[in-house]
Amino acid sequence: MAAACIFCKIIKGDIPSMKIFESDKTFAFLDISPLSKGHALVIPKFHGAKLHDIPDDQLHEILPVAKKIALAVGAEDYNILQNNGRIAHQVVDHAHFHIIPKPNEKEGLSIGWPAE
Ligand code: C5P
Repeated sequence: MAAACIFCKIIKGDIPSMKIFESDKTFAFLDISPLSKGHALVIPKFHGAKLHDIPDDQLHEILPVAKKIALAVGAEDYNILQNNGRIAHQVVDHAHFHIIPKPNEKEGLSIGWPAE
C-alpha cells in the first residue's frame, strides 16, 4: 500500500468505487470515466507503478478475473489494455488492466484506444 495512491485508497475503501471483484491479491471495479459500457479495471492489491514492479505471484489472477468480467458483461468484442508510463498513456501509477467492451453496430461505433 502507498498512502498517496488513489487505487490503494480504493482498495482500502477510503475512496468509494463500483467494486466487482475482490480476493486477497486482486481487486476489480468499474472505471469512473468509462470508454464504453462495462469498462472495468483489474488491479493487483500489491502497490507498484508499472507491470514490471509487480511480483509474478501477485499477477496470477489478473487475466482469469479479466476473463470473468468480459463474460459477465456479455462483451463479445473487447480490449484488454495495460499502460506503463506517461508516453504509453498511464495516468494512475498503480499497475492496472483495462477491460474495455466494444459496442456492437446496433449500439454505435466502436471506440478506439488510444485516442490518437
Ligand atoms: O491507464 P491509465 O492510467 O490511463 O488509466 C487510469 C484509469 O483510471 C482511467 O480510465 C480513469 O478513468 C480510471 N480512474 C478510476 N477511478 C479513479 C481514478 C481513475 O476509475 N478514482
